[in-house]
Amino acid sequence: MEVSVGQNKQREQDFLVASISQLAISNNSSPPGVARFRSDAGVSELQFSPDSGPNDSIHFDLRTAQLFKLSPFQSACISEASEMNKENSRGITIQFRNEEDGRAFHCAFEQWKKEAVFQGSHLPNGTVSTSKSKFDDKTEASSANMYFHYYGQLLHQQNMLQDYVRTGTYYAAVIENRADFAGRVVVDVGAGSGILSLFAAQAGAKHVYAVEASEMAEHARKLIAGNPLLSQRITVIKGKVEEIELPEKADVLISEPMGTLLVNERMLESYIISRDRFLIPNGKMFPTVGRMHMAPFSDEYLYTEIANKALFWQQQNYYGVNLTPLHDTAFQGYFSQPVVDAFDPRLLVAPAMSHTIDFTSTKEEELYDIDIPLKFVASVGTRVHGLACWFDVLFNGSTVQRWLSTAPGAPTTHWYQMRCVLPQPIYVMPGQEITGQLHMVSHKAQSYTLYLTLSAKNWGPGTEQGGILQTSSGKLDLKEPYYRMSQLPVYPLAQDQQPHQLLQTQDIQIQSQDEEGSDLMQ
Ligand code: SAH
Repeated sequence: MEVSVGQNKQREQDFLVASISQLAISNNSSPPGVARFRSDAGVSELQFSPDSGPNDSIHFDLRTAQLFKLSPFQSACISEASEMNKENSRGITIQFRNEEDGRAFHCAFEQWKKEAVFQGSHLPNGTVSTSKSKFDDKTEASSANMYFHYYGQLLHQQNMLQDYVRTGTYYAAVIENRADFAGRVVVDVGAGSGILSLFAAQAGAKHVYAVEASEMAEHARKLIAGNPLLSQRITVIKGKVEEIELPEKADVLISEPMGTLLVNERMLESYIISRDRFLIPNGKMFPTVGRMHMAPFSDEYLYTEIANKALFWQQQNYYGVNLTPLHDTAFQGYFSQPVVDAFDPRLLVAPAMSHTIDFTSTKEEELYDIDIPLKFVASVGTRVHGLACWFDVLFNGSTVQRWLSTAPGAPTTHWYQMRCVLPQPIYVMPGQEITGQLHMVSHKAQSYTLYLTLSAKNWGPGTEQGGILQTSSGKLDLKEPYYRMSQLPVYPLAQDQQPHQLLQTQDIQIQSQDEEGSDLMQ
C-alpha cells in the first residue's frame, strides 16, 4: 500500500487510491490512481495522478492544502486560492480502497504538511532552522541513536516479550478491562513489536495507532499484517511521539515506558507528552500510576564484592608500575554503579516507603528532578549498606485493577531490583531511625544521576548533645548499572516458606494503598 523513498533532498510517498474526482465535477465513474507526497529541494506537494492519464494530474501545495474526512473511506483535499502561488481555489474527493488506507493517508498528510509548513518558515536572516522536537532538546543525539538502535533489534523485543510476568500482566490488564477498549481509539506509545496494540485490538479497540520510533516499526508492521483479523484496526506510525501527528484524539493510551527504578530511559516523559498531545480529557492510561519503593538493606557479601573490585589498583608493582594513584578513583567508580539483580527480601532492614507518580496528572517537568526524603525505622540491629529500590505500576481498569510488581520475593521480571551501595556502611540498632534523601537529577543521556544520603543517630558518648550522627553519601549514575543477576542464585523461596516479615508488611501496605488508589482514581 505504501512505498516511501527516504532521501534527504528528494522524497516521495505513494498511496494507491480507489478513485480521484474533482469536487466541482460530478462523475460517477471516477478513475483510480495514485496520491503522491513529494518533496524536492525544499518544496513539498501532493500530487494526484488518476489512471486516466498523466495530463489529468492535479498538484496541491502542501503548505496551503487542507484535508477533510467525509467518511471513513472518503476525504476531500482543498487548496485555498493563493496570490503567491498563483493557484485558484479548488478541491478533489478521494475514495480510499479501505478504512485503513484512509487513516494511513491522513497520518501521512499531517506529517508531510507539518514538514512543509516548517520548511516554509524562513527566519529573518534568511536561514531555515532545523526541526528540533522536545525529545531532541533534552536528549544527546548519540544517546538517542544507541537507544533506538537497541530497540530496533528483535532480540531485545523478544527479551521483553519473554518476561511473562510483564507481558502476561499487560495482557490480563487489557483483556479483563475490555470495556475500556471496546470501540475506543487507542494509542500505543512506543509500540516496539506491536504486541500491546495487538492486545488492544483483541480487546475490541475501534482503532489503534502504534507509534514506534525505532526500526522495529517495520517489524511491527509485518507482525501486525500477519494477524489479519486485527490488522485492519491497527496503523503503525514510525516516529517519535513527540514529533508525529495523529488524525484523531485517543480515548486510551497504552504503553510500557518503565525502566530500572521506573524512570530510567526517561520514557515516562514521552508517555506524559503523549497524554498531553493525543489523549482526550479524562481518557484512560494503561498503566495509570507508578510507585518507586525504597528500603535500606544489609548485604555484607555484596559490599565486599564491590569494595574488592578496586583492590586491583592497590598493586604497587604491576609489571613494575605503581597502580595505587588510581585506587580511590576506581573505588568510587565501582560504588557509582547501581547494582541490578534479584535479592532476598530478608536483606531489607526496615519496611519500605514509596514515592507515587500519577501518570494522569504529573507534569512532564516534574520528572526532570525528583527529590525523595527518606525515613525508616530499623527492624534489626545491623550494618546498613545502602538503599534497595524497586517499582510497581497500576492498571486502573474500570472492571479490574491490576498491579505489575517488581518487588523482591515477587516473581522475577527482566527489571529485577536495584540497589545503591554506599562506600561507607552505617550501624543501626533495632528501632533506630534512619533518615536521608534520594535526589534524582535527569541528564541528557536518557537517565539520571542519583544522590543518596543515609544517616542514623547513635546513642553513646555525646548522647546529651543529641547523639553521634553517622552519615554516608554516594553519587551514582543510573545509566551505568552493574548487572549482577547471572552471578547470583535466584532467590530460593521454598513452596512452604513464608515470605519475609518486612515484605508482608509491604504487601499489606500495597493492598491498602491499592484501595486508597482506587478511591483516588474514581
Ligand atoms: N510496547 C512494546 C515495547 C516496549 S519497549 C512492548 O511492550 O513489548 C519501549 C519502546 O518504545 C521501544 O521499542 C522504543 O524504541 C520505543 N520508544 C521509546 N521512546 C519513544 C518515543 N519517544 N517515541 C516513539 N517510540 C519510543
